[in-house]
Amino acid sequence: MDAIASRILKARQYAAERDERLWVNTLQVKMKGEHSDHYVSYDRGSWSCDCEEFQRRFICAHVMAMEEILGEAVEPAMLPIPG
Ligand SMILES: [Zn+2]
Repeated sequence: MDAIASRILKARQYAAERDERLWVNTLQVKMKGEHSDHYVSYDRGSWSCDCEEFQRRFICAHVMAMEEILGEAVEPAMLPIPG
């Protein structure tokens, strides 16, 4: 097997084993919302979004969607304490 073929195999193995190998440190994404685009960011466990809902409650559908996509690779967003 040549070096390139062996790297491709290794890359596939890493990708398949992402749950045990991958943790996100920082990330910024643009998400197309129903009415406008939103920018979601993540920095070592801390989530942020530029939408109105996030400014009020520190959680929103955009952040929740990213949590769903990234699964165990990120820390969960803090749910607001009721009251
Ligand atoms: Zn949002």
